[in-house]
Amino acid sequence: MSSSDQPSVHQTHVALFPSAGIGHLVPFLRLANTLLRHNCKLTLITSQPPVSSAESHLISRFLSAFPQITELKFHILPLHPSIANSDDPFFLQFEAIRRSVHLLNSPLSALSPPLSALVCDVTLISSALQLTATLNIPNYALFTSSARMFSFFAYYPFAKMSDPSSDSIRVPAIGSIPKTSLPPPLLVNNSIFQKIFSQDGQRIKELNGILINAMDAMEGDTLTALNNGKVINGLPPVVPIGPLLPCDFENPDAKSSIKWLDNLPPRSVVFASFGSRTAASRDQIKEIGSGLVSSGYRFLWVVKDKVVDKEDKEGLEEIVGEELMKKLKEKGMVLKEWVNQEEILGHRAVGGFISHCGWNSVMEAALKGVPVLAWPQIGDQMINAELIATIGLGMWVEKWGWGQKCLVKGEELGGRIKELMESEALRKQAAKFRDEAIKAVEVGGSCDRAIEGLIGKWSKGT
Ligand code: UDP
Ligand code: UDP
Repeated sequence: MSSSDQPSVHQTHVALFPSAGIGHLVPFLRLANTLLRHNCKLTLITSQPPVSSAESHLISRFLSAFPQITELKFHILPLHPSIANSDDPFFLQFEAIRRSVHLLNSPLSALSPPLSALVCDVTLISSALQLTATLNIPNYALFTSSARMFSFFAYYPFAKMSDPSSDSIRVPAIGSIPKTSLPPPLLVNNSIFQKIFSQDGQRIKELNGILINAMDAMEGDTLTALNNGKVINGLPPVVPIGPLLPCDFENPDAKSSIKWLDNLPPRSVVFASFGSRTAASRDQIKEIGSGLVSSGYRFLWVVKDKVVDKEDKEGLEEIVGEELMKKLKEKGMVLKEWVNQEEILGHRAVGGFISHCGWNSVMEAALKGVPVLAWPQIGDQMINAELIATIGLGMWVEKWGWGQKCLVKGEELGGRIKELMESEALRKQAAKFRDEAIKAVEVGGSCDRAIEGLIGKWSKGT
């Protein structure tokens, strides 16, 4: 073929529009890493100022690692106090971003080459749809939780939530979800969360597609039901792109925790960490400490005392108490800092994970084949915990309820840790998920094919 016969090389240009919080940012940056490998041009919209230091740090490490990415700094308008009816700083930021989106019209239309598509966060769907209608480009949403949670989200506009005679919601093809397992702010009338959830849920059919950090090995039936119109009719394609892989830029430093693990036998350590936006009460922190000690296992425990990291200023000894701290140090490592979670989960010494079931953490546990003791704290986490128990990635103690509301005693926790660490069945099942995850991310595997399919569509403006 002569050079004049070559098809013109047109680089697909995608804008990525994450919302607030690490749990929402991480999957976007991992997706960006994958799209770069497939030769896309990317613009990252960063809402200013971010809520947490963890987000600022992660964004700057990402941009230093990938100087070819355009950052579009998006200075959001402050929220009017009459609308700010939440004490959750992340929900307030969701709403502030949604109300500022019109400011993006002109900078996005000025980008060169012109945008082929926009991928927005699940909490920005309705406002991002206005943007993409003006820009006349396709709009895809990245759903930051499980396919199971997405099914509920899609069905929510049709669910009879206010029916007092029913204490559960029957989601077609998924089954019954007890109302007590739903994100608690969803049950608070007129809460910011409820409004966003319902406004966005009503408009998902207008999207061109939905990307989920999910894989068939864990949620194949749900993904099939979603794509066959069994959950609701008329959904756009739901594309499983998981597991999204953790990237080098996320955690550049080798930390002492890893060196400590290096000297310990395989699967002898339980790792306890509750994500980036859950603070335990002081009473619960004491019980977790005594539970870890009474389990008899070695442990690596990340303590978090405040919801937003910038406010987390007190020292570990003050929070945990000197006496307990002494006992803890005999058997484990306790930290109050950002850790390299994927490296810890991937360390051969780690045999179990006590997790709040934030979706990124769940997918990381599956990717590394580490069984989970599910202890949901907020949001979508109880729905994820039910999934973990159903598919055997781990165990869930239903009677513990929401971590933010009930106190779990140390003795009870210690017993469950033993159960987790001693279960051969869970270990085998988690290893199966790891094997499937590895297959999915191989060159030519399901992730590659899904991303290539998306880029093919974007390059045609669909
Ligand atoms: N994470 C980390 N180090 C920490 C705390 C969290 O690397 O000290 C990462 C974790 O691996 C995951 C993300 O931050 O990728 C947290 O997202 P998740 O959905 O699990 O929970 P959230 O923080 O949103 O509650
Ligand atoms: N969510 C959704 N639509 C929305 C807002 C939230 O589907 O408009 C879902 C999504 O699965 C999200 C979950 O509700 O992960 C809980 O949201 P929250 O912000 O409490 O938790 P996070 O994902 O930040 O840990």
